[in-house]
Amino acid sequence: MAERMIVIGGDAAGMAAAAQARRSRGRDDLEIVAFERGHFTSYSACGIPYWISGLVPDRDQLIARDPATHREKFDIDVRLRHEVVAIDLDRREVTAVDLAGGGEVREPFDILMHATGAVPTTPDWARTDVAGVFGVQTLDDGSALRSWLDADPPPQRAVVVGGGYIGVEMAEALVLRGLSVTLVERAEQPMSTVDPDMARLVTDAMRGLGVDIRAGVQVTGLSEHDGRVDAVQTDAGSIPTDVVVLGLGVRPNTALAEAAGLPIGTTGGLRVDRQMRVAGVPGVWAGGDCVETLHRVSGMPVHVPLGTHANKQGRVAGINIGGGYATFAGVIGTAVTKVCDLEVGRTGLRERDALAAGFEFVSVIAKSTNRAGYYPGARPMTVKLIAERPSGRLLGAQIVGWSEAAKRIDTLAVALWNRMTVDDMTALDLGYAPPYSPAWDPVLVAARKAVDALAR
Ligand SMILES: Cc1cc2nc3c(=O)[nH]c(=O)nc-3n(C[C@H](O)[C@H](O)[C@H](O)COP(=O)(O)OP(=O)(O)OC[C@H]3O[C@@H](n4cnc5c(N)ncnc54)[C@H](O)[C@@H]3O)c2cc1C
Repeated sequence: MAERMIVIGGDAAGMAAAAQARRSRGRDDLEIVAFERGHFTSYSACGIPYWISGLVPDRDQLIARDPATHREKFDIDVRLRHEVVAIDLDRREVTAVDLAGGGEVREPFDILMHATGAVPTTPDWARTDVAGVFGVQTLDDGSALRSWLDADPPPQRAVVVGGGYIGVEMAEALVLRGLSVTLVERAEQPMSTVDPDMARLVTDAMRGLGVDIRAGVQVTGLSEHDGRVDAVQTDAGSIPTDVVVLGLGVRPNTALAEAAGLPIGTTGGLRVDRQMRVAGVPGVWAGGDCVETLHRVSGMPVHVPLGTHANKQGRVAGINIGGGYATFAGVIGTAVTKVCDLEVGRTGLRERDALAAGFEFVSVIAKSTNRAGYYPGARPMTVKLIAERPSGRLLGAQIVGWSEAAKRIDTLAVALWNRMTVDDMTALDLGYAPPYSPAWDPVLVAARKAVDALAR
């Protein structure tokens, strides 16, 4: 008799696991049912800012695989608008509610893939029924925001609350749509995913775009007129606005798992082993934004909610469910983003992470250019390296600059993954031609500077 696999969450991790399992196990061997409470499967939340800005014109371009494709190609029974509300590990069944009004269903499982993603942080002041306040977690959120922005007359002023990468990308999107944008950030600077000295470059670029950045400012509430938001209240005064976008971060969505008694780690994410099996629970697997993972440099558990990890973790779970063997090797914290033409990349530990992990280190900042200085379009590129003292092992890297900056972080990520020292890195055979780099690539310039700092 076929085993039954139930998937909770129909996006990156859940559907990657389901599709991968199907590749090695046919319908007679494995029946797959996927519950998704939203309206879409396998969509790119990452693309929402570019859809809001208008760069990507059509929402459906963000959908990689719809339920019909999952059914036809992978024989997966997708149940949209079904929310799983309970997992019973003893009876090995889940209870799901049909949100379209069809009542409750119970489905047995032999194999469970828990891929519920993350929950956006929503402070009390944001939990109002005031119209004009939006998150950007799902395509439904994006649709609601787009409709508001497309109104006639369109809104003129926007406040983005939260200066992480999603807040920064949304600020850019709203500027591109012609709104006057204020970004409010509680910390001293937006973009705390990089060190403050690098974040300053991003802040300057955003101000250059016309974004009014209020850093070190705490939002205390919203005010409304006729049921529509008309201002954001802060501890530094009121900011009039026609629309508010929330980008305050996320936490793992584990309420269901906790209620079922599944193990939760120190970061709040589900604890999984290398094969993405929920620690100590046979037949139960998990991946994506709902799990915690190992940071390969600090050796600590971390919650890093990124699509790149969700897809890989789902695939690893699917290979194992399919009868193969695969492991997820952990993360090193590589991430990229941009503010209009300014690109930002990071990998490994920031200075504060290195301190928290107990490393002794040097850090250097090297200023260079993305192309040979004489070549048209040459623009500044700033590379920061953090290297362990005295070993010289690369611990972290950050890049801010114009074209060819962001993806250069991948060179540094590979070096870091392979535990290279900055001394080893000075000899790397990197490509050079004037349109792509100076004779000494910015990565090599930074590595040389780090070697000098270690020698001092
Ligand atoms: C605006 C934005 C931009 C981003 N940009 C990037 C980027 O550039 N690069 C990057 O790597 N990552 C980016 N991310 C993060 C990335 O989208 C997530 O890490 C990724 O989607 C996580 O995949 P997941 O499958 O774990 O969770 P999700 O994509 O959140 O999917 C979980 C699914 O589970 C469903 N669900 C939850 N609970 C239940 C339940 N009880 N029953 C049924 N269904 C349920 C949800 O509706 C959801 O569809 C971005 C995210 C956002 C919001």
